[in-house]
Amino acid sequence: MSTYSKRILAGALSLALCLSPAALAAKTEEPPLVAAVEGLSPLLYEPDPAAGYHAALAELAGLGYSEQQAEQLWARLGERAMGLAPRLLDCLALENSRLDREARYLAYVQAHPEAETAEIVTQVNLDLDLTPYDDARPIDDPADPLVLVNKYHGLSETYVPELEKLGGRYGVGSMVPEAAAAFRAMADAAKQDGISLRSVSAYRSYQTQQGLYQHYVSIDGKANAERYSARPGYSEHQTGLALDINTASISAHFENTAEYAWLRANCARFGFLLRYPREKESITGYRYEPWHYRYVGQDIARTCMDRGLTYEEYLAAQTQPGENQAPALFWQGQALDLGDRVTRLSGVTYVDAAALAAALGWTGETGEDGVLRLSDGLHKIELPVGRRALLDGMLVRLSGPTVERSGGRCLPLSDLCPLLGVQATVTDQGVELAPRQAAL
Ligand SMILES: [Zn+2]
Repeated sequence: MSTYSKRILAGALSLALCLSPAALAAKTEEPPLVAAVEGLSPLLYEPDPAAGYHAALAELAGLGYSEQQAEQLWARLGERAMGLAPRLLDCLALENSRLDREARYLAYVQAHPEAETAEIVTQVNLDLDLTPYDDARPIDDPADPLVLVNKYHGLSETYVPELEKLGGRYGVGSMVPEAAAAFRAMADAAKQDGISLRSVSAYRSYQTQQGLYQHYVSIDGKANAERYSARPGYSEHQTGLALDINTASISAHFENTAEYAWLRANCARFGFLLRYPREKESITGYRYEPWHYRYVGQDIARTCMDRGLTYEEYLAAQTQPGENQAPALFWQGQALDLGDRVTRLSGVTYVDAAALAAALGWTGETGEDGVLRLSDGLHKIELPVGRRALLDGMLVRLSGPTVERSGGRCLPLSDLCPLLGVQATVTDQGVELAPRQAAL
């Protein structure tokens, strides 16, 4: 063999070595040679955007996860799912797990080896792995109408919300305008039923709370006082979203009144929930306060009141987005649920071509030649494996190779949309799809 031939061979070998999927996936620019040889054997030289996905799913299957759980872990963690401790993976497979609490789930597992997975996630989400006040964190967005204030989440000394007086016949104090309007509407509706609701305490400043707390500690001792009085900065009253109705005294036995019965039955209609229910002290940190209500809006209030949940429990159960989550798709404003037919591969949103096409009214089938053919009666798309498609017989080059996944042919959403005559717009909610506007 000539030196020249040897050099060619060495070059080809090193090319073959460096063209491992991982190496190619890392490159944004395609080497010219790959483009040149693609026509001959595209699969051999193409980076496989699904390499990490297939490796992760194989490893997860080996650990005993079902395909559905493995898909979920992929959406939550991507390639990071590989190599994590199985007990942590169990936690993170739950939809309400929070990826920024991984270390806390692990610590909880170590402290409670016998704990069930759901219990671990719930306890940590409720912050019950922390020490009240000592481990509290400052609240980032105190004006968020859904803000959670408790012994683990504190407001700054200077925080004062936008406030509006409730007005004479509604009792004393001020609330955030939306909450004030909701309380007035609730009191008006109650009045129609012969029930009188008045605020005895609504917004309280940090300084007012400081005085109250010190007063209760001085007469009742710290341990007792902390079962009903918050340290300054940790009172929900400082948000302007909470109020005490008619009384704030245990001895009044508000829970035995017609007013309380009315509130239990109707408060959610006006967006309020009972914030410190009976027998939830271990979660809320406060004993039963039948008079204390928090404005959270109708939907959350209904869920909590119907299911007997505290606000903490409601928040702890909420589904959390993953770090490798495919965006939600919408078709002309309506949610388009393609389930796991949409996924993120190597940071790109891939969608099952036949599934999206079917959702948009196209029909399709895969021929014996392995080509997926889609049609809406007017246009025809042919999709072989690889990096090319034919639209009405015209060659279209795709930005990435097709990926075979769970029996479907997937390609980048950004490639599929133009083929289907659809334009995609990224919004806060996800990706909005709409018929492409004809050129003027
Ligand atoms: Zn209160």
